Amino acid sequence: MNLLDDLRAALGGSAVLEGEAMGAAPASDMSYTGRSLPRALLRPRSTEEVSAALKLCHAAGVPVIAQGGMTGLAGGSNPSGNEIAISLALLRGIEEVDSASASMVVKAGTPLEECQRAAAEHGLFLALDLGSRGSCQVGGNLSTNAGGIRVIRYGMAREQVLGIEAVLADGTVVSSMNRMLKNNAGYDLKHLFIGSEGTLGVITRAVLRLHPPPGEITTTLCAVESYDQVVALLRRAQSSLGGIMAFEAMWEDYFGFNAEALKLRLFARSHPFCVILESTKPAGTVETFLAAAVEEGLIADALIARSLREAREIWSVREGHPIETLPNLLNFDVSLPIGRIGDYAEACTAAIRKRWPDAHVSFYGHVGDSNVHICVSAPYAPGEGMHEVDAIVYGVLGDYRGSISAEHGVGTLKRPYLRFSRSPNEIALMRLLKQALDPKGILNPGKVI
Ligand SMILES: Cc1cc2nc3c(=O)[nH]c(=O)nc-3n(C[C@H](O)[C@H](O)[C@H](O)COP(=O)(O)OP(=O)(O)OC[C@H]3O[C@@H](n4cnc5c(N)ncnc54)[C@H](O)[C@@H]3O)c2cc1C
Repeated sequence: MNLLDDLRAALGGSAVLEGEAMGAAPASDMSYTGRSLPRALLRPRSTEEVSAALKLCHAAGVPVIAQGGMTGLAGGSNPSGNEIAISLALLRGIEEVDSASASMVVKAGTPLEECQRAAAEHGLFLALDLGSRGSCQVGGNLSTNAGGIRVIRYGMAREQVLGIEAVLADGTVVSSMNRMLKNNAGYDLKHLFIGSEGTLGVITRAVLRLHPPPGEITTTLCAVESYDQVVALLRRAQSSLGGIMAFEAMWEDYFGFNAEALKLRLFARSHPFCVILESTKPAGTVETFLAAAVEEGLIADALIARSLREAREIWSVREGHPIETLPNLLNFDVSLPIGRIGDYAEACTAAIRKRWPDAHVSFYGHVGDSNVHICVSAPYAPGEGMHEVDAIVYGVLGDYRGSISAEHGVGTLKRPYLRFSRSPNEIALMRLLKQALDPKGILNPGKVI
């Protein structure tokens, strides 16, 4: 028997798809850089089936890719053509919501939004939130250590997990479904799988940490004249308002482009920076805070959303769909120490414009979490020209000791640039871990390291 026959015998014929039956979805995540379908697509329904599949692939020395919601932006779940892809889509469902320990037990293929809803139905709050919430899966969120818009208050995906169950390359199931906030009994094994993008194991279940609901959120937009003032506003808001739920900065090239395309005139004139500041304090308290900040010259102008519609209007500029229509657009997701982001943005723009004087370069992002996204549109040739942009953006970043991936992961797209953010010893330790857990190198080969 060959491997596919063995897999059919273990999982059932309907769980092993080949050729046209797979459809186009397993070829690429939302970076749209994948060009090949996997050799076959497996659709296991349980941890035991994932384990059986890996055991067979391991014995045959055939590479395997875990595929979640395919919303990744780093090419992490893209096949090269030789691999067997394991879709987690049928490993879906919430097993338990435990109000006493404020946690929930979920299967890895459950869409994030389904988990958020289940938490809310129990009067609790799942703090992880991303724009892709309807399609991305918990397993994908954990394996990319996703960030999103609530990191400033609750931390990254890593902070929302108490326990994990994962299947190793050889099919061994490691169940580390801890439910306690404190558990220092040896190494915290869940961290091996969080953020390792499917290269060390396939996540099958998780215990997620929940919080009390944050209550009403006041959304504001602040106009700011310098990057130093953006940082000063962040620190002032944190000390005066406490629970900041979001702090998103947009540079004028980003804000102005989107606002104009969306026909939104939010301020009377343009400003170098606009910041979305969300707080759990009532509108009156936030208004007093903003009035004092204007008085002091910390911010030039501000508006408070008086309805959900107004809040959505403000966020629509940040979501930035118009900018995605620029030709040859490349997106970057980097992080730097917060105080250095302003200088980096200037240096990076200057370096790109030196090569392409008419380039459109704009910055926006979760500045409160030290994360900034960069949009570059220039007349570079596809292929080599795009690598040239990567080399400029990451080269300047290296000078500022930043990270080539703040939240989207390394995948295939950033793999050549890992050395800009990680020392040779760090990369050597990553290789040692990979070798220990996956000596045959069958899990997501060619990704991350
Ligand atoms: C509109 C939009 C908004 C987004 N916003 C954000 C954001 O704010 N912050 C952010 O961090 N990301 C964001 N993303 C990126 C993306 O949604 C996240 O990376 C998400 O966590 C990926 O989850 P997924 O289930 O789609 O994983 P996939 O794309 O399927 O896979 C991503 C990686 O995880 C691995 N993987 C998937 N499932 C498993 C598993 N069960 N076990 C082991 N490995 C697995 C894959 O092999 C791959 O390496 C956004 C994407 C879109 C399209």
